[in-house]
Amino acid sequence: MSPLTFNEYQDQALTTDIFEHRSSSVADPSFMSKVLGLVGEAGEIAEKFKKILRDKDGILDEADKQEIIKELGDVLWYIGVLSKYMDVPLQDVADRNLDKVLSRKARGVQKGSGDNR
Ligand SMILES: [Mg+2]
Repeated sequence: MSPLTFNEYQDQALTTDIFEHRSSSVADPSFMSKVLGLVGEAGEIAEKFKKILRDKDGILDEADKQEIIKELGDVLWYIGVLSKYMDVPLQDVADRNLDKVLSRKARGVQKGSGDNR
């Protein structure tokens, strides 16, 4: 079985969205639930690392890693589905991000601030 492409993942992820009515309106619960879910899942990752730091002297064990992989997947799901709500292929999100960070590297501006540096 060949690996999923970003767009194949996105299409399959969307089939698991509980909202049958989907809207690209930010005011619609189907849309905003994806925004809030994305932030919530990112928070779950932060929480797991906080507990590793607090309770395990910062030592990441295999069980931690497996749990964090699940949460990273949850973030990916929300990114894929949110992008779909905006009619943006997940491949475009990945390509544009990679173009951005590779450009920053080439220009020596990986450090610093500003979204558009
Ligand atoms: Mg989660």
